[in-house]
Amino acid sequence: MDEREVLAVDVVFVGGGPASLAGAIRLATLAKAADRELSIVVLEKAAAFGDHSLSGAVLDPRALDELLAELGPVPPPPLDTPVAEEALWYLTEHGRFQAPWIPPPMHNHGHNLVSVQRLVAWLAERASELGVDCLPESPAVALCWDQQRITGVQIGDKGRDAAGNPREHFELGPYIQAKITILGDGVRGNLTKQAIARLGLGASAQAPRYALGIKELWQLPPGRFPVGKVVHTLGVPLPTETFGGGWLYGLHNNILDLGLVVGLDSPDPSTDAHDAFNRFKLHPVIRPLLRDAQLLAYGAKALPEGGLYSIPRLSADGVLLIGDAANMLNGLRLKGIHLAMKSGMLAAQAAFTALQADCYDTQQLAQYDDAFRASWAYTELYQARNVHQGFEHGLGLGLMNAGLGMFSGGRGFGVVEALPITPAQQRLQKITEVAPRAKQRRVIPDGVVTFDKLSDVFHSGTHHDEAQAGHLHVADTSVCAQKCTREYGNPCQYFCPAQVYRPNFIEHDGRISGQLDIDFANCVHCKTCDIVDPYQIITWVPPQGGDGPVYTGM
Ligand code: SF4
Repeated sequence: MDEREVLAVDVVFVGGGPASLAGAIRLATLAKAADRELSIVVLEKAAAFGDHSLSGAVLDPRALDELLAELGPVPPPPLDTPVAEEALWYLTEHGRFQAPWIPPPMHNHGHNLVSVQRLVAWLAERASELGVDCLPESPAVALCWDQQRITGVQIGDKGRDAAGNPREHFELGPYIQAKITILGDGVRGNLTKQAIARLGLGASAQAPRYALGIKELWQLPPGRFPVGKVVHTLGVPLPTETFGGGWLYGLHNNILDLGLVVGLDSPDPSTDAHDAFNRFKLHPVIRPLLRDAQLLAYGAKALPEGGLYSIPRLSADGVLLIGDAANMLNGLRLKGIHLAMKSGMLAAQAAFTALQADCYDTQQLAQYDDAFRASWAYTELYQARNVHQGFEHGLGLGLMNAGLGMFSGGRGFGVVEALPITPAQQRLQKITEVAPRAKQRRVIPDGVVTFDKLSDVFHSGTHHDEAQAGHLHVADTSVCAQKCTREYGNPCQYFCPAQVYRPNFIEHDGRISGQLDIDFANCVHCKTCDIVDPYQIITWVPPQGGDGPVYTGM
């Protein structure tokens, strides 16, 4: 080991989302009950806990209730708005049909509309009160290894060296040496990705699938949309081969929470979720709601949509995987926060048992996998285990499969236990097959209801110090110029919801010249580029601590 600062702890949680914080709270309460002192650290890349957290979100309180029962008297969690009424709309070009009933798994009565940013901030306060070191501005940039055992992580330094020059890499921060490293670094976590690849944790899992969620908060004139009303939509603006749907949630103070989820496994390489969101807002049913309204906030985040069979092995020597990083999301119920929290709590229980036994090897930590399989989280995901696979064949068959799944304990169309799924990159069509459609459908933003990507980035509060080295690593830009331009039409210009990638290539006499410009300062950390790039040559890594979006109330 070199001479960098070493901080030895019992457990480090990487990523300060609901999974890690619920896990840290559970671990601290177990230690307190056993009168054992533990050093527990939660690392978060944002300037404050919650700043990078974004979700719909209608919270299923099951995991939170379990946590509250352990915590005793604490300030109430920020459960903003109780759900008062629900609807499911199918949007056509000019109108909508309302479903006569809502499938039971999608019922939200008794749940609350929440801001996950505020929930995370609240969880971080509770964790800190229990003695957990919650460290903001601390991006974990590398795993530390002892052969095949993970021994901790390295925190990225600020992006500039002592002389003020930008660093080439961010691998010069303190080293957190931990008995157990718990990876909750979010969807397509940069360290989880490395751990899965090196340790083969995904060998028995299906190829993960993802979607991109785009969300805005709007200040409406009084009385425009009922408080506590929850609407989910299907249909327009998405073509039937693209998975996804929209939502409208009525929050207190006349705030409308509006969003659209768009599958990142669409066969169309020109799929642009931001453009689709603009078209969603222009729909004749949605647009009147936004008349004389004001945009308050914008954000985007990828979602793990693959379901139960995309969950990798959750433990290995010295490490556990939790939350979005482990693909814990129920696509049928459109929910993941409660599963993320539960996975963190189960991991904490397994970590505590391992600490008591002073043993952190693969066999010991596999107790977490066993506990997950015995939990309500697994049972819930099992009931929805084949949902996303059905949408591979379009919206109609996807809905039929999901409906059948409700009456067959989650089997759906499957005569086998797990319906097969194709890796997203293999579904992607060449641009020659889809270019004419793509050109027809871009919205020209009006700056009132629809916005260009840079205006929306402004509403995400995003800031990056531009003196640092870029955090979006493209392994070989000649692939972008010479292959991607012809084969897929440089989809990075479409899929990024923050206009980070600007391919400036021109073809002359059969030769392509120019360059890929990357405006990394616009990045809202959604991870889409790392997921969807057809050649898998883009790697997202955390920028310097504190940089990125500032999601307020999201
Ligand atoms: Fe998302 Fe990548 Fe664009 Fe950043 S650069 S906003 S991670 S797609």
